Formats: sequence, C-alpha cells, structure tokens
Amino acid sequence: MPAAYYDENGNRVKQCTKCKKVQPVEEYYKHKEGVTADGLQPRCRHCTLAKYRDQNQRRAKKRKQKTHKLTNKQVAWIKEQKGKFSIRETAKEFSNKFFAIKINPSTVQRIFAGKIHTDAGEDNTISIYDLLAGASDLTGSVEDYVESLDPKKVKF
Ligand SMILES: [Zn+2]
Repeated sequence: MPAAYYDENGNRVKQCTKCKKVQPVEEYYKHKEGVTADGLQPRCRHCTLAKYRDQNQRRAKKRKQKTHKLTNKQVAWIKEQKGKFSIRETAKEFSNKFFAIKINPSTVQRIFAGKIHTDAGEDNTISIYDLLAGASDLTGSVEDYVESLDPKKVKF
C-alpha cells in the first residue's frame, strides 16, 4: 500500500487505495499506531466514511431480515418439514412457498430445536400472509375462502 510522501511542491500527500486520488495527508484519518508505516488510514476520509456507511446499511438490512415476523402458519409449516427436509432445504423451500421471503437457516434450526416460536398456535389471529398462502391451497374461489374466515380474527 502506498505510504505518504512529499510531492514536487513539498506537500505531504498520499494515494487512496480505494479512489486512487492523490490527496494531502489531512484528507486521511489516523491509523492505530504501528499498523501502517505513515500512521494513516489507507483510504481517504471520503472513502473511509463511505465504507462505514455501506457496512451500516448491510448490517441494518441483515437485522431487518432477522426480525421478520413469521406468521403462525409459516412457523407451523416449518415445523412440518422437520425430519422431511434438511434445515437448508427447508429455508430454500420456505422462500419458494411464501412469496420469496428469505429465511435464515439458523431461524429454521432454532424452530426445529423448539428454541423459538414454541407458542405458535396459541395466538388465534390470522395474518394477511396466512390468507394469501391459504387461498393458494384451495380449489374453490378466493371469495369462498375469505367468506369462510372470521373477519374479526384477520390481522393486517
Ligand atoms: Zn479515496
């Protein structure tokens, strides 16, 4: 990695490993001592900040996926797959079945192990996902199916 140096005008400059621009050393954050020869980050301030922004976005997205609330029907379906499919196969089948909702294999594993969603079924409400998924299993019309449900128990 290119260390800081003096340019022809006597300014201390350094090339960013990311954007490749040669910039004054003031444009770089300091690094922990002894990590780089010049004591500066290999990326300029702009690129360092962009990197952290990206990382935060990725982590936020991951968190969002993790906390996706499963409906009772989805949990029940996952439990039915125990012994029939592997954890990984179940996770894959799950996203095919439920509108491409991605599920983490570790969630499947924890449901299989009875560590989470052990109380599924106690809740007597039906989510809109149950409605849609249930309707696709029927041979009759969607209207008949919706008619057959107690509207007070449908949770949107
Ligand atoms: Zn840069």
